[in-house]
This record gives sequence, C-alpha cells and structure tokens, in this order.
Amino acid sequence: MTPLAAFERVMHCLDRAHANGFKVKAFAGAMETIASIEPGELHRRVAAGTLKELPGVGDASARLIREAIESEETGEIPAYLLKIEAETQVEISPAAQVYVDALKGDCHMHSKWSDGGATIESMVRTAIGLGHEYVVLTDHSPRLTVAHGLDRGRLEAQIADIDVLRERVAPFRILTGMEVDILEDGTLDLDDDMLERLDVVVASVHSKLKMESRQMTERMVRAVASPHVDILGHCTGRLVDKRAPSQFDPDYVFAACAAFGTAVEINSRVERLDPPPELLAVALDHGCMFSIDTDAHATGQLEWLPYGCTIAADGDVPVERIVNTRSADDLLAWTSAPAGSKV
Ligand SMILES: [Zn+2]
Ligand SMILES: [Zn+2]
Repeated sequence: MTPLAAFERVMHCLDRAHANGFKVKAFAGAMETIASIEPGELHRRVAAGTLKELPGVGDASARLIREAIESEETGEIPAYLLKIEAETQVEISPAAQVYVDALKGDCHMHSKWSDGGATIESMVRTAIGLGHEYVVLTDHSPRLTVAHGLDRGRLEAQIADIDVLRERVAPFRILTGMEVDILEDGTLDLDDDMLERLDVVVASVHSKLKMESRQMTERMVRAVASPHVDILGHCTGRLVDKRAPSQFDPDYVFAACAAFGTAVEINSRVERLDPPPELLAVALDHGCMFSIDTDAHATGQLEWLPYGCTIAADGDVPVERIVNTRSADDLLAWTSAPAGSKV
C-alpha cells in the first residue's frame, strides 16, 4: 500500500466515524505534503529518520508512512491503519442490517463536480467495495451556487465522463442523475430535456425553507408531480438541533408522492435523518415508495446507510416499498414508467 493510499483510507475511516477535529486536520495536512513530494523522498526519509521534518508530519503520520512503505514489501496492511479501521466501524442493529442487506444501490451522492470532496471514480470504487451494484450520481443543480451546482454544459460534460468510467467499472452500474433544486414556485432548476435524459432525478428544497406552510405545500406538490422527479430528497430540510423542519401539509405532499410515483427519500445523514418518524408514518399510510440514501459528500459517508436503515426499521417500512432494493434495471423501469403505473 502506498503512503498516499494509506492516508486516503484513514481519511475515509475518520469521515465515516464523523470525526472532524484535530486528528482529521493533522492527517489531511500530512496527506497534502505526501501528495506533493515524490515517493523516493519518503523512502529516503524513512531510512534517515527525518520524516517529521516534513511540514504537517507528526508522530502518527510518520508511523503511518513508515508502516505503509514496509507494507509495500510485506503485503500486510499497516497496523496503524488496522487500528483506525477497527475504531471507526459504523454500528448497526440486527433490524437495520436486514435493510442494509436488501439495498442494491445508493441513489443520492455528490462528487467534486459540486460540493463533494471525492472524484466520481473514488465514490464508485468505494461503493463497489461496499457491495453495491449501482450508484446514482446526483450533484447539485445550477441555482445552488454555494455548492458549485452544475449548469447544463457541465452536466453534459459530467454525463460524458460517466460514459467513459462506466466501461472501466462494469458490471457495476453508474446511473446519471442530479439533485435538482425545487425553486420557490415548485418548478425545477433544470431544463426538461436534460431532466428527461437523466436516469434518476432527486428533487430537494434548499432555499426559503421557512416559507409559509400553504405555499410550501403547493411548492412541494408541484415538484413531486413532475413526471421527471423520481425521489423527493430530505423532505423537511431539518438539521437536527440546528434548523427546524419546513412546514407543509404532509397529507397533500405524500398523497401526491404516492399518486405521481415519487419516492420519499429516507436521508441517512446524521444531521438530517429526514423524514422524522411522525412524517415517515404519514408517508407510509399514503402508500408511498421510499429510497434510503446516504447523500454522501465523501467516500466515508457512503457507509452511512445504517442510519437511514435504522429509521426504516423503526418505522416498519416494508422492504418491497424501497426502490433501491431493486436491481438497476428494475429501478430504471420504475423511474421511466408513467406515473399511474409506478408500483
Ligand atoms: Zn440536498
Ligand atoms: Zn444532496
């Protein structure tokens, strides 16, 4: 294992464990240094015992570099990496495990093209390692400028890139998509012909979250009724303990989701955990379909499905109502079916 690969894996592990303090900064700093120098220098410095003279390299980073270089000869995984692997496992209950085992793909994630931290290829390779059969890449739409949302031209370029990558990772499937903003009037932040071209469209509210309930209801109903929208992303927009959920009439919104064949996302991010249990129950009563997604912005976050699966298990969501328990072909058949026959 190269030192850089070892650091990338450490960052993945820290991220899946929600670490964001000193340790992450320290490893990120050292990783930047390693990425910028030629590998031979690291070997020389290991021999000379001068690794810690490099900017950002402390005791822990020096140990990881040393062990990674040794591992290139022994083939063993660096002991320090094994320790971090063990410390950062995402815990899961047996009830939630049933859902994790049933999921075949993840329908909501971001890459460096918008506000994610990893390349499409890194996200895909991680998903393959997790046993997924497919992912849907859903970077942000143009109006979300803070997240570097993709306009038409960049989305077309991304689709072309995905086409090339697809061949390298087959039989794994990469489906095209976007997390398209639901604008204030309920229209979508992308032209119809582009929405039509995408395999899976997640639509989410990211602006004016405090809109008055009646208006928000109209806005969401209009969006989920669009024939292009397949999944309603993080429906309340809440951030646990930080931002109150948006107010809307869940009966109208979820009845519309059920009628127009739009799945309700169960968002696995710990700061979102959206929908909250009481709304999940309403969506279930209306006969909605669901999609359990990570909304990952980095490779480690692709391991967060257990949180969404815990919500599904606690709410007794029937597994057959979760669209990403289906194969990629069955999912595509579902997204392209006319609203009335989407079951
Ligand atoms: Zn979002
Ligand atoms: Zn997202």
